[in-house]
Amino acid sequence: MSRAAPAPRDLSAATTAGHAVRMPRIGAHMSTAGGVSRAVERAALHGCETLQIFTRNANQWRGRPLEAAEIDRFRTLVAEHGLHPVVSHASYLINVASADPALRQQSMAALVDELARADALGLHGVVLHPGACTSGTEEDALALVAEAIDEVFAVHPPGTARLLLEHTAGQGRTIGYRFEHLAAILDRCRSPERLGVCLDTCHLLAAGYDLTTDDGFAATFEAFERTVGFERLFVVHVNDSKKPLGSRVDRHEHIGRGFVGEGGFLRLFADPRFERLPFLLETPKSKDIGKPNAIERDPLDEENLGVLRRLRAAAGVDVVPGAGAR
Ligand SMILES: [Zn+2]
Ligand SMILES: [Zn+2]
Repeated sequence: MSRAAPAPRDLSAATTAGHAVRMPRIGAHMSTAGGVSRAVERAALHGCETLQIFTRNANQWRGRPLEAAEIDRFRTLVAEHGLHPVVSHASYLINVASADPALRQQSMAALVDELARADALGLHGVVLHPGACTSGTEEDALALVAEAIDEVFAVHPPGTARLLLEHTAGQGRTIGYRFEHLAAILDRCRSPERLGVCLDTCHLLAAGYDLTTDDGFAATFEAFERTVGFERLFVVHVNDSKKPLGSRVDRHEHIGRGFVGEGGFLRLFADPRFERLPFLLETPKSKDIGKPNAIERDPLDEENLGVLRRLRAAAGVDVVPGAGAR
């Protein structure tokens, strides 16, 4: 990676009051137990600046309709706490890559519902896994995804929420683990302006995109820029990985305790291409903390958010290892 070193960062800007360096916003996926607005309260309690939620049970096809009063309460609390952006993650049951007509119809209907809920709540995006091959080649599956999205967009008019295709770990027969897969879907869709992408640090590493060395990091995001482009990136999921580089196994680990390591996250924070993006945790939660509907601190969320804040601060003021590789 023999690229010219960038001009030195103006380190004074990071420490001078009123001249904060622009840095990624930090937040987490929060439970909506008790109602969608409860997730906003949980985010606020943990000092989140951005938030991801499920707008319906992620493992069921049918969700209860959102009540008008709950929508109002959600929107008021989001504005009050300055959370930005707020996105949802679509149900894991949805598979728009499926060639099975029944599953495909059910998936498209569920995706329309996801977008409708997100727009009602004023969300900025709906994160969707591209899906899994049920028959045929990956190429066929990518074409099926693009067709399904076109059909969904034809039914559901544009709102606040962009559909964000998440890069995957490539477990089993899932597609979307190569940047080229995401690019192929974007290229085939008739309304690419309604789409974006979401990257997940655990999935990147598991799919074989190295973040743990300066050269690996540089090569990963050169490939991303060449295929998808940073202008299409709207959300970053920050998760460490229990499984090693190229394992194609999707197991999220606490920040700094897995194969991404603190160095991988420090590189992200230090890279100005990520400065406008939300960094959202999807790390394991503490088990058995109080009643499911209660609003209370989760020690594991606090730990992971704390590590991210420390790394962000370090990236803002320190001479970043590997800055020359950017
Ligand atoms: Zn996901
Ligand atoms: Zn993710």
